[in-house]
Amino acid sequence: MRGEARRRAELVAVGAALERQGLVRGGEGNLSCRLDGGWMVLTPRGVRKGRLMPSALLRVSLHEPLPPAASSEVALHLEVYRRVPDAGAIVHAHPPAVLALSLGWPDNPAPNVGLLPEGEAVLGAVGLVPALAPGSAELAVAAAATLVSTPVAVMLNHGAVATGLTPLQALERLELVELLARLELARRGRDPEAFSV
Ligand SMILES: [Zn+2]
Repeated sequence: MRGEARRRAELVAVGAALERQGLVRGGEGNLSCRLDGGWMVLTPRGVRKGRLMPSALLRVSLHEPLPPAASSEVALHLEVYRRVPDAGAIVHAHPPAVLALSLGWPDNPAPNVGLLPEGEAVLGAVGLVPALAPGSAELAVAAAATLVSTPVAVMLNHGAVATGLTPLQALERLELVELLARLELARRGRDPEAFSV
């Protein structure tokens, strides 16, 4: 399958970057990459994202029954690939400053893209997904509907999910959302270091 080995290596690198930056802890988060022919490569359930092995990533059909070892958020990945043709990769994490802001719902719970020029140029907007049960079909449908029009969505009281043409682009979008959230907390007089890991 063309490019699969490279995609697996990219997911491993992105997983390490997520953990290094404190955007996930323990087995949190999940990431995937779309492959040709209606397939994706997805992280298995519950593994540390900083210690992924290329061979341990799962190849999952977008159209067939799911393997039981797949990530708990496999429904979200499937739904996004089905609904968002431009999504080549998906990264879901629990960035601490994004989470801190989202707990302030309904008072401006999403990072403000206007705080940095890159915010508007790279992201345009940040979507908001209601607080729904992690791993549920309802969350998958709501997140996919949001990601049709924005490259990143904040999942209230949960975390954030980003799409990209590649895993690296999805990571960079997630990193930018976390930076914007930290700036927003600082703008509101909160110490963003209190939300770093
Ligand atoms: Zn999550």
